[in-house]
Amino acid sequence: MAEVLDSQTRKAFADRLRYYNELGIYDFYRRAPHDIPSAVAVEQNIPELTETAPQMPRAAIAAPPAVDRPAALRMIREEIGDCTRCRLHKQGRKQIVFGVGNPNAELMFIGEAPGADEDEQGEPFVGRAGQLLNNMIKAMGLQREDVYIANIIKCRPPGNRTPERDECETCSPFLMQQIKVISPKAIVALGAVAAKTLLAVNAPMSELRGHWYDFRGTKLAVTYHPAFLLRDPRQKKETWKDLQMVMKELGLKAPEKVSE
Ligand code: SF4
Repeated sequence: MAEVLDSQTRKAFADRLRYYNELGIYDFYRRAPHDIPSAVAVEQNIPELTETAPQMPRAAIAAPPAVDRPAALRMIREEIGDCTRCRLHKQGRKQIVFGVGNPNAELMFIGEAPGADEDEQGEPFVGRAGQLLNNMIKAMGLQREDVYIANIIKCRPPGNRTPERDECETCSPFLMQQIKVISPKAIVALGAVAAKTLLAVNAPMSELRGHWYDFRGTKLAVTYHPAFLLRDPRQKKETWKDLQMVMKELGLKAPEKVSE
């Protein structure tokens, strides 16, 4: 039976979890007490959790084995349920937008949050920005069905406002689990919110783009969000450079002409 912690210890755990989240660490694993004594865990700064740890979804504590990826993704979706973990559940969302695509994808695109069309249809990147993303994917010699697409947060913020930091922190453990299950060869963060949340850095897009990052053992590149490109099409050329960097990494053949 799980040990029930007193309120002071629970608060200490919650503070420690927030601290790790701020460092960009979202995944925690419970270890059997005989595997690792608490004193050692504390000395090594290994966060231990109990069943009573607040705000931490179970799917984020114990990752499902990635043998059957579609089943593992379904488990994460079931764990999310009709989520009320952050304020966005009561600010007009119609449905949770989980993610879409090939569970065995080598390439994963991660955006910011669902917009109105996505909220309506329950699928990420289905509006005008989604159409542009589809064109970007085609320009790389792939189809939308070949990749996996998700967002940092799964509910539409009211008026398409930028997600708050605490909303990203609350929701992103589910995304971390999706990434872990899919285990892509490369991730492309679309826009500053996705990049800053995943990389836990605060820098302008001009600095974030054009490099590979190591995201927990997976290569991660940053490029502009398609919604931004709709507002400023001049940046499409720069975006294409970013995508070519990704194509080179994945061994994809560059088409002769970039389709718009
Ligand atoms: S944004 Fe994420 S954490 Fe917040 S209510 Fe939706 S699914 Fe839950």
